[in-house]
Amino acid sequence: MLDLKQDVQYVKGVGPNNVVLLQKLGINTLEDLITFFPRNYEDRSKPKKINELVDGEEALIDVICASNMNETRFARNKVMLKMLVRDDTGDCVLTWFNQTYLKNKFKVGERYQFYGKVNIKYGRIEMTRPVFDKEGLSKNTGKIIPIYPLTFNLSQNKLRNIIENGLKVALGKLEETIPEYILKEYNLEEINKATKQIHFPDDFTEYSKARRRFVFEELLTVQLALSSLKSRYDKEVDGIEFDKNVKMSDVINSLPFKLTKAQLRVLEEIDRDMESNKPMNRLLQGDVGSGKTIVSIISSYKAAKCGYQTAIMAPTAILAEQHINNFTKTLEKFGIRCELLLGGMRAKKRAEVLEKLKNGEIDILVGTHALLVEDVEFKNLGLVVTDEQHRFGVRQRASIVGKGANPDVLVMTATPIPRTLALILYGDLDISIIDELPPNRKKIETYPVTKNYERRVEEFIRANVQKGRQAYVVCPLVEESEEYENCKSATELAEEYQNKIFPELNVACLHGKMKQKDKDEIMEKFKDGEIQILVSTTVIEVGVDVPNANIMVVQNAERFGLAQLHQLRGRVGRGEYQSYCILIYEGNSKTTRERMKTMKETDNGFIVAEKDLELRGSGEFFGTRQHGLPEFKIANLFEDVAILKEVQDLAQKIEEEDPRLEKVENRKLHKLVEEKFEDRISI
Ligand code: ADP
Ligand code: MG
Repeated sequence: MLDLKQDVQYVKGVGPNNVVLLQKLGINTLEDLITFFPRNYEDRSKPKKINELVDGEEALIDVICASNMNETRFARNKVMLKMLVRDDTGDCVLTWFNQTYLKNKFKVGERYQFYGKVNIKYGRIEMTRPVFDKEGLSKNTGKIIPIYPLTFNLSQNKLRNIIENGLKVALGKLEETIPEYILKEYNLEEINKATKQIHFPDDFTEYSKARRRFVFEELLTVQLALSSLKSRYDKEVDGIEFDKNVKMSDVINSLPFKLTKAQLRVLEEIDRDMESNKPMNRLLQGDVGSGKTIVSIISSYKAAKCGYQTAIMAPTAILAEQHINNFTKTLEKFGIRCELLLGGMRAKKRAEVLEKLKNGEIDILVGTHALLVEDVEFKNLGLVVTDEQHRFGVRQRASIVGKGANPDVLVMTATPIPRTLALILYGDLDISIIDELPPNRKKIETYPVTKNYERRVEEFIRANVQKGRQAYVVCPLVEESEEYENCKSATELAEEYQNKIFPELNVACLHGKMKQKDKDEIMEKFKDGEIQILVSTTVIEVGVDVPNANIMVVQNAERFGLAQLHQLRGRVGRGEYQSYCILIYEGNSKTTRERMKTMKETDNGFIVAEKDLELRGSGEFFGTRQHGLPEFKIANLFEDVAILKEVQDLAQKIEEEDPRLEKVENRKLHKLVEEKFEDRISI
């Protein structure tokens, strides 16, 4: 029987040195080895005629050797070899450096295949350092060659060899991991064939079939693992039953505004969860400015009036301060005690807060990561709210939740995620959506412009500042970088603004590499109006409220994901003033223009997010890493939406018919999910 867990060192060609290098790639076992999928492929299977070659491409040619090897020696023993080859359309010169063993390798008049990079200068066609095969052989050419991800000091050739040897051991003996009925219904390749074809595809059709199988398997496993995690939690854990007689409406009626229908619906969902004896695990999604904070305030009111404490965790001190003001303003009149806990607090003050928290003299504690510290002890934590969830990992969430006995959890995020993706990223949470903005919001006017308009944008900023307003200017980079030539960095731009363009104003720069304390100080000054123009990287993305700021300029807007641009835009339009979002972009590709048009025409975050997905953005939309989910080995959430949808339909059916995966035909799925759990528990 095949032992997939056997140490990779027993695979032929793996010496002690390679073992270490393989480990760096996360390859410890035979199984790891054969599931180390290529990141790309080179098609060395279709020869081109010499007169079809294009400068700069890598290509295969099928030619006759037309000259002996010409050898040129240089200083320091350097050797250049040149040889002429020919087909019926032309000549090509092949060049190698220092590979003297090739000197007598080729015979004039014989046929070979060469694969290498094409160089065309002044009509002279050359190929440098080609790999080759003699007619009839296909070791280096004649097929599709896999290219593996980062390999440290392991050469592609070496790794390819090792994987080939691993496959020799495993192929034909791999046990199918997907139930037969699913393979059939979804037309998925059987595991042995798929494993062979994903590494060494016969052609690109076979490759696609193999890839589809592995993507399907991976997505299905994660999807089922999440829903099973959720149902385990739902069924097996007892939570707090909050009192039905405590009415959220008491605080709702005290507000200076009417809640939107969406806010009311979401509050009903939360209320129902809170009153049930199962712990709430709910994700609250809502566009920037949709009024999530008030929802969390009302939920904490309920917890407090039922005799439980609430923890509110915000990603930055500024946000925590903003929250504590809102909470106190709304809840003080009900006799609810709110306190703030931050990292940089004086020891005496901190000790005081901790003492009161432990004694139950605080009902709501608002803070940052400072809440996670071990000596922060609650008397009876009943509700945990984390704001802007993508800043916190799953582990941090678990760590704050652990300070209570199965408290209810509400995770709030302003990143609108299309439903399909939300199901796989937050499959272990119930989802509530606020899909409506409070009335009377002025629409933010969005203007995509090219670089030529920069002077006019500056004048526009000046005119608004003269009327008393403030402006944000966002750059994609912190400092100058060789990599992006046409991109001004935040520090560069801030200097230029302060020294040359706006010497009469106060310009400040804010970026993620600064100390938290300095960042907070600048934000405070911006809030107070001492700074008129804030140049920054995307650190301001998170929900800071400066109602007086009415301009958001984004430099090199083409480099941002649409969802991110939408988030940035949400920083303005928070006050009574007409607000503007100016997107300065470069390049004139169809995609860029379409992305800019989307930004101009829609102000709905969900539509923007859907469009982002469709246009595939720059991967800026979100990183799965931040969500604390296992990295995907092969699936790409952007490219594989169609497969994801199939998987979710199937997962839903399975969940209805066999939620615990107990039926005989689902035994294999059970095993896949169990293995996934082990992964998950280890993160
Ligand atoms: P976000 O969802 O981005 O966290 P906030 O909760 O900060 O949004 O709300 C933005 C602003 O809208 C706040 O000043 C808040 O008081 C106000 N607000 C919230 N709900 C309503 C409503 N139903 N009607 C009017 N204003 C509201
Ligand atoms: Mg918010």
